Amino acid sequence: MRWKTSGALILALLTTAATATAGIIANPVHAADAPACAVDLQVDQWSNGFVGRVTVTNNAAPVDGWALVWTFPGDQRVTSSWSAGVTQSGKVVTARNQDFNRTIATGASVQFGFQATFQGSNDKPADFTLNGVRCNDTNPPTTTTTTTTTTTTTTTTTSNPPAGCPSGAFCDGFENQTGSTPAGDWSLNFPNCQGTGTATVDRSVAHSGTRSVRVDGRGGYCNHVFLATTKGIGTSGQYVRFYVRHTTALPESHVAFVAMKDTADGGKDLRMGGQNRALQWNRESDDATLPEQSPAGVAQSVPLAVNQWACVEFGITGSELRTWLNGTEVQGLHADGVPTPDVDAQWLRRGGWRPAPANLRLGWESYGGGDDTLWFDDVVLSSSRIGCS
Ligand code: CA
Repeated sequence: MRWKTSGALILALLTTAATATAGIIANPVHAADAPACAVDLQVDQWSNGFVGRVTVTNNAAPVDGWALVWTFPGDQRVTSSWSAGVTQSGKVVTARNQDFNRTIATGASVQFGFQATFQGSNDKPADFTLNGVRCNDTNPPTTTTTTTTTTTTTTTTTSNPPAGCPSGAFCDGFENQTGSTPAGDWSLNFPNCQGTGTATVDRSVAHSGTRSVRVDGRGGYCNHVFLATTKGIGTSGQYVRFYVRHTTALPESHVAFVAMKDTADGGKDLRMGGQNRALQWNRESDDATLPEQSPAGVAQSVPLAVNQWACVEFGITGSELRTWLNGTEVQGLHADGVPTPDVDAQWLRRGGWRPAPANLRLGWESYGGGDDTLWFDDVVLSSSRIGCS
C-alpha cells in the first residue's frame, strides 16, 4: 500500500512542520500521533484478479479477538482467504481472526491474506476499522489532550460510528460497552413486571467486533426483557437495521423480539416477532397480526434460522410498513395500504394507521411458552434504508 504510506508520510511531515511552527513540542513523534491501528495492504494483481496481503498493527490496548472491516471502492470480490475468516456483503468485507491469531499485543502485528476478483479498476480501500476503531488515522477525532502522551487505551475511538454508518444515522455495534449490563445509549426495560429474563454484554459472540448484547428470554410475559434506546426513532427516520442470532426456532405461540411504543396508537407497542414458527408483526392495541395467522398468511412469511446471524431491516413511511430479512423483502410482512388477503387485510382494519414509534426495544417477550437466547449487534436507525453489511 505504497501510496498510503507516502500519504501518511506527507501528513506526518506536515504535522511536524505545523508543530515546529507552533513551537509546542520539540519531539515530532509522540504517542498521540500514532494511529490506534495501522493496516498495510500489499496487492499483487493480474488482469481481473489479485492477491491481497494484509498486515494489521495494533498500537492500542491488547486485542483479544478481532474483526477488520473495510469497504472496497470498486467491484472487488473475495474468493478465498488464509489466516483469517473473510466474508463479504456487497462492498463491505469483514476479516475475523482465527484461533491462533486472535490476540494482538500492543505494538504487535498479525498478517492474513485473501484472493479476489475485480472488474474495472482495483482501487484500494481506505476505511479500515479494527474492532470498530478506524485504522491509519493519524488524527483521530477523539478524546485525549496532547499532555497525555500514552495509554488512554481502551475505548478512545468508540465515538466514531462504525464503518458504513450513514450520515445522520445512529449506529451501534456495542463495542463501547465496558460493563456487563448494557449502558450508555441503552437501558434495560421491563414493562409492568420483571421476572427472569436477562440482557448482558457478551464478549464471546459478535457480528462485528468483539461485543454484542445477549438476551436470555424466558416464556411468560413477566419474564420479558428489552434493551431500549430512544436514539434516532422519530427524528432521523424510521428505518431500522439490526443483526440477530438465536438458538431456538420461533415457536407456535406468540413471541416478540422488537417492540416500539407507538405514540400514535395510545402508547401501545408495535411489535415484531413470531407466531406459528414464522416472523410476524403484531399491534398491541388490537392484537392484529401481519401477516394474518391463516396457513396462507403464514406461508408468506419466513422462519428465523437458528445459530446464524440474520440481518433484519424494516422501514416505516407513513402508513406503509416494509420488512427485509437478509436483504430480501418478506411479502407477508408488508402493509402497503392496499388490503392483500391473508397478509394485511386484518391489519388495515385500523383506518388511518400511521405509527409514530417513540423508542426501539430489542429483546424478548413471550406471551405463552417460548424460551430463546438471542444476540443483537450492529443496530442502525436511519432516515433511509440501510442494507446489510
Ligand atoms: Ca459488535
